[in-house]
Amino acid sequence: MSKKFFLYLEYKNQKYPCELIPKKRNRNIRIRIAKTSEYSAEFKQAGFPFDPEGNNQLDLFLPLASPAYIVKVSYPPGLSRWQVKASLTESAAWIAAHFKKISKEQKQQANPILKTGTRIMFQGRKLTLVFLPTTRRKQKVKLAGTRLLCAMFSTQQQKLKKVLEQWYREQAARYIENRTTFLAAGITRKPYRIRIAGQKTQWGSCSAAGVLSFNWKLMMAPKYILDYIIVHELAHLEEMNHSQRFWQVVRAHSRTVDRAKQWLKKHGACLDSI
Ligand SMILES: [Zn+2]
Repeated sequence: MSKKFFLYLEYKNQKYPCELIPKKRNRNIRIRIAKTSEYSAEFKQAGFPFDPEGNNQLDLFLPLASPAYIVKVSYPPGLSRWQVKASLTESAAWIAAHFKKISKEQKQQANPILKTGTRIMFQGRKLTLVFLPTTRRKQKVKLAGTRLLCAMFSTQQQKLKKVLEQWYREQAARYIENRTTFLAAGITRKPYRIRIAGQKTQWGSCSAAGVLSFNWKLMMAPKYILDYIIVHELAHLEEMNHSQRFWQVVRAHSRTVDRAKQWLKKHGACLDSI
């Protein structure tokens, strides 16, 4: 009896992870590209190194910049593995081209051109950037309703990004500090320090010394997401693991754990847009 199996398709020095599923209703072999969030438990068990949960870490390891993709192949159960593999090899060029297209789109999404009218996320809301030219050397960013006014001397993309990141970091420092104090009520151990960081692959972390780090990009997500990450890291002060007891602490302080986890899986990549 045929059952699901996993393999890497090798093509032009690249490896593409594939999940192959027998399907009774299939008359032909069907190939599609799927996002990380669709990974099945078996895929993880098969030892593929794409576990976005990072189960061995004390951190929230999530694909901030680019969710991983896999090739999902369904085939009529009557076919042998050899036949499925042969068909996959035939489609290798198409698969490679598809992956290339995805990576190009991701790069564009992660680096939108910043100009008046560009939309960026702030606490789950879409803000419209408005650049106001100024002759002064000092740059100013101000939130006005749904518009983010930026009085800028330069229009160089790199500089604009830096100024915007600085603004997000300032907002994060103030907001996260307050929110952590509020959410920490009921947690016995208090954080030693709160840090705003710009980690590439993490939303938050908790060190053994009790330093909680939060990614400034969290300020783009809806508030309940940030609340969940704060509670998650606070809970690590009591339980330095992801045990049942740890999740009990998290759930005792947050009602939106499942909703937040789902959102992070689905929209994680969008948070990396500036
Ligand atoms: Zn954790």
